[in-house]
Amino acid sequence: MDGNRQLSSRAAGRAAWPRLMALSSAILLACLALALTAQTPRPYDLLLRGARIVDGTGSPWYRGDLAIAGDTIAAMAPRIEAPASRVIDASGLVVSPGFIDIHTHARRGIFDVPTADNYTRQGVTTIFEGPDGGSPVPLRPFMEKLTATKLAPNFGMFVGQGSIREKVIGSVDRKATPAEIDQMRRLVREGMRDGAFGLTTGLFYVPGIFTPTDEVIELAKEAGALGGIHVSHMRNEAAGVLDSVRETIAVGERGGLPTQITHHKIIGTGNWGRSVDTLRLVDEARARGVDVTIDQYPYTASSTGIQALFPPWALGGGQAEVAKRLRDPAERARIKSAVIENIKYDRGGGDPKNVTIASCAWDPSLAGRNLTEITRARGQEPTLENAAETVLSIVERGGAQGIFHAIAGQDLERILRHPVTMVGSDGEVPIFGRAAPHPRSYGTFARVLAVYVREKGLLTLEEAVRKMSSAPASRLRLPDRGVLRPGMKADIAVFDPARVKDKATFENPHQYAEGFACVLVNGQVIYENGAMTTARPGRVLYGPAYQPVSPATAPHR
Ligand SMILES: [Zn+2]
Repeated sequence: MDGNRQLSSRAAGRAAWPRLMALSSAILLACLALALTAQTPRPYDLLLRGARIVDGTGSPWYRGDLAIAGDTIAAMAPRIEAPASRVIDASGLVVSPGFIDIHTHARRGIFDVPTADNYTRQGVTTIFEGPDGGSPVPLRPFMEKLTATKLAPNFGMFVGQGSIREKVIGSVDRKATPAEIDQMRRLVREGMRDGAFGLTTGLFYVPGIFTPTDEVIELAKEAGALGGIHVSHMRNEAAGVLDSVRETIAVGERGGLPTQITHHKIIGTGNWGRSVDTLRLVDEARARGVDVTIDQYPYTASSTGIQALFPPWALGGGQAEVAKRLRDPAERARIKSAVIENIKYDRGGGDPKNVTIASCAWDPSLAGRNLTEITRARGQEPTLENAAETVLSIVERGGAQGIFHAIAGQDLERILRHPVTMVGSDGEVPIFGRAAPHPRSYGTFARVLAVYVREKGLLTLEEAVRKMSSAPASRLRLPDRGVLRPGMKADIAVFDPARVKDKATFENPHQYAEGFACVLVNGQVIYENGAMTTARPGRVLYGPAYQPVSPATAPHR
């Protein structure tokens, strides 16, 4: 028994050694693991699992996981095993960079709807304002107001040549003096230092319309010297479109800066087909080294003030001057015959029914009705003459926003296919349900994916995404957005390529796009499962010459 005990005790002793060894190595391993955990990054905040990754560069999609830490893409790999606070199963879905809208009028509405649902619900994560020559001047107070507003998307600005000219010499039809040009140059530099990404022109509008090309070039040089680009709503998008493309190219070529034809289109039935020539001019300019590009929205109707049907000369001096001209019978007759011409051959698309009112402050009931209907309601036959008279009376009473169906689908498609064309909405941030805005505000990006990728096969998915992400990002020299790659900001759209769809129509524009599973801005989910979240991670983006005000010059608060 004793022996047995001894034996068993010795046996127990021999058996205890491996157990002790195992225990101590387990403790050692645990310590090592703890030490490793302390050194490796914390678990990811979010993991998108098993997605079809369309990275924004135009490269073919590939399957993989994407992990986010904070506001940044932390890892991308075929399979990421490290733990994440949250995992989203993205199998069957496309994960792409969030879309960047280089041309919006978002200050119409952004302070009412800081989540910009119409944009964010179609994957847009960054919007740019200050288009067509129109921006606040100075820019800084507006940028500060944006910063103080909690936005869902990121927001960047251009400074507008028209607004600068307006401020310096008013909306009059004359050349600027050398002293005035100096003053305007100074305001361009100020705009760039306030954070603009460049200078926009709207040479179709008052007062841009009164600006000679040479004056535009003098101002563009200032923006270019500070790293900015030039973006132009051209002087003429109808019969004079070729000369206007030449002018936009000249601003880039002689001003020494990148130049962009914005919302490129060919207006007026008699001009349809000329995109062949406008694109040839762009190709020729690029071949000789001019950095010219294009943006476009995917609709065959444009939208702007109804006075776009007026001749330029009739619009100088502001509303009071315009009203005065309309009271003079001879002037009125001249304006009217020009409006008739513009309905026939230009923005009117050849028929008063092609012009619809989008919104009207003094009579909201006009929204959604066309010139034929409104003319009939005035008790007149909808002849060209009477429709022109309707336009005159609308402008006399304060004007209205119009929609103009005067673009050919063939030109649209030819321009969209061109490799230097990117997508921009030219939209705004509508108040949901109010007025009858152009559907581009709700549908531009989803429409490119639904109609021009899936239905028509005009673009590959990868190419369409490139036109909405890395193309505008490189145009604007955004170093950390527009492409999915570790280290880039996590602005991301997750969508079903088979279901993505623009729902907004001209008849019923207030409809959000469908098919987006979630949208992220700076790493945070802003939209998910058909609803906005409470996150407001949008940032104000600053251009290349931005200078924060130094404490010495900052005003006391
Ligand atoms: Zn425009």
